[in-house]
Amino acid sequence: METIRVERAKTLKEKPNPDTVKFGVSFTDHMFLMNYADGKGWYDPRIVPYGPIPLEPSAMVFHYAQEIFEGLKAYRRADGKVQLFRPRDNIRRLNTSAQRLCIPTLDEDLALEAICQLVRLDESWVPSKEGTSLYIRPFIIATDPTVGVHSSHTYLFAVILCPVGSYYPEGINPVKIFVETEDVRAVRGGTGFAKTGGNYAATIRAAERAGQKGFTQVLWLDGVERKYIEEVGTMNVLFKINGEVVTPPLSGSILAGITRDSCIQLLRSWGVPVTERKITAVELFAAGESGALEEAFGSGTAAVISPIGEMDWDGRRVIVSGGKIGPLSQRLYDTLTGIQWGKVPDPFGWVL
Ligand code: PMP
Repeated sequence: METIRVERAKTLKEKPNPDTVKFGVSFTDHMFLMNYADGKGWYDPRIVPYGPIPLEPSAMVFHYAQEIFEGLKAYRRADGKVQLFRPRDNIRRLNTSAQRLCIPTLDEDLALEAICQLVRLDESWVPSKEGTSLYIRPFIIATDPTVGVHSSHTYLFAVILCPVGSYYPEGINPVKIFVETEDVRAVRGGTGFAKTGGNYAATIRAAERAGQKGFTQVLWLDGVERKYIEEVGTMNVLFKINGEVVTPPLSGSILAGITRDSCIQLLRSWGVPVTERKITAVELFAAGESGALEEAFGSGTAAVISPIGEMDWDGRRVIVSGGKIGPLSQRLYDTLTGIQWGKVPDPFGWVL
């Protein structure tokens, strides 16, 4: 494997207060960079001081959004050591996204080494207060200085890090969600399963409208029939209906969440039946109205588990679990965060 060159920052930044730090605004002292050029492959892996990246205004990423990214976290354990949660799965998903966007894939081992070395160098940025972590954002952008729709011949892979405070500083509060009936996030055959910026840009309008109406998240329906449940905000969604956990299948238009997969594996290990199948809004709301819907929650790296307390769809309103977090959601939250912060054993070999 190619060695990673390291250029240390001459002056170190002041670290933000972990109690008040806002997500995604404060970045650590260093970043990882690596370039790609056709014929040459990926080259010059390096860790350098965090700072602006010079790009031509014509750089392809600005115009045609040929870009992909990932999101994972490093956690500080009680013994002071720092650990990552399923980082290889994020790298594999980055490569899956790369294939969809015609971006050259990365060597998994080198990408993992890049993340590990960068986190080690900026380890003092991993906060230690309960619930805090260091967010890791790997991304690849198309850098050809040409305006024209085709795949770029040059790319930049970068990894940046930012400390994040606790997602639930005041305890877990179930969210109110709005079933979006106008905009759609993704369609089969599109890029919904890839983590690419355009998917997110497409969601901002609905999220803003939902926010203005007092909702925290949007529940996305499929882009063709607008019948089937897909995801909630930037999370996968799971429902407990009559004792069984149901979650939409990975049919091409939703992201294969690593937290979703962890929930499924944990639930099955506990003997809770899990079915990955299509579920319509009609079925969901009928289950909500009859009382068959016992729990509903989103799953994702940021919040881990985000219980849904209320859902609104075309004027119909359903309160879930009495507006409180349900016992299964709580158990998943406690177990996953326990494994992530090294407080409970990790029988799945998820932490590194
Ligand atoms: N769906 C979307 C659209 C997302 O952006 C995310 C966050 N990465 C997820 C689901 C959850 O994925 P994960 O559990 O890997 O964070």
